[in-house]
Amino acid sequence: MHTPSDPTRCLILGGTSEASALARFLAGDERFAPLLSFAGRTRSPVLPPIPCRTGGFGGASGLAAMLEQEGMHALIDATHPFAARISANAAQAIAMWPLPFLGIVRPAWQPVAGDRWQMVDSLEEAAAALGMRPRRIFLTIGRQELAPFRACPWHHYVIRSVDTPEPHHLPPQATILTARGPFATDDEIALLRSHRIDGIVTKNAGGSATEAKLAACRALGLPVWMVRRPVIAPPSNTVTTAQEAMRWLEMLHHERMTERGA
Ligand code: NAP
Repeated sequence: MHTPSDPTRCLILGGTSEASALARFLAGDERFAPLLSFAGRTRSPVLPPIPCRTGGFGGASGLAAMLEQEGMHALIDATHPFAARISANAAQAIAMWPLPFLGIVRPAWQPVAGDRWQMVDSLEEAAAALGMRPRRIFLTIGRQELAPFRACPWHHYVIRSVDTPEPHHLPPQATILTARGPFATDDEIALLRSHRIDGIVTKNAGGSATEAKLAACRALGLPVWMVRRPVIAPPSNTVTTAQEAMRWLEMLHHERMTERGA
């Protein structure tokens, strides 16, 4: 039943393709009044077709206060698997101001036959694992965590990020490529070949948009230094896709309307 006068108000913590996909499902649906929140890390984010806001809340208590003040009915954590602080804040905020709470957690990438992955726990560990012999390394770790590679200046780094890194963050030998996924395997193979890449460093973000680089490394027999995800206690309710999150919201809305006798 559509009840535009009492839409289900939902805060979505975004910054991922899943959050953007959920925003597209919700756009124009009068049952819902969603608000998509960005941290503000990307200089020119693709704007969603629903209302959005940018910037931190001021910790868990700030987020709880916002949920209360805005009369939110639900919170969805659709942040990046490496964004540990905001996910912890979301769980704490829900403990302070209880609401239906859902996490969208992308499955991590798993190695398959032919992969040459070395698992590491941090970018510092990845940089150290590259060794003393100069290599040409493809970095797909964003633009804000390049510092560990400045400590290993004998390698040449090809750095791909959505926005150009700040010059003072760069290692001395760096080639910058700005691009936004999704990427195709053939293009990734061509890129690795043209830059004569010896191996890549990446975080286990999961998802299909940036997975092609792993297939490309497999095809070329290149090593991958794969940073494991931080341990984040997931919400008790989790799904893996925006479609499932939409179904969860629809059920929640149905329950609210049933309780109101609408
Ligand atoms: P983080 O360390 O978990 O968060 C740091 C702080 O940024 C949080 O405490 C919060 O500030 C604010 N914040 C983070 N996400 C927010 C959101 N969606 N809306 C409003 N405030 C937010 O996360 P991060 O590593 O800085 O990542 C920030 C954003 O980039 C996230 O949206 C994430 O999904 C996306 N992202 C991260 C990575 C990564 O590898 N870390 C990669 C791709 C995309 P307050 O405490 O003041 O509320």
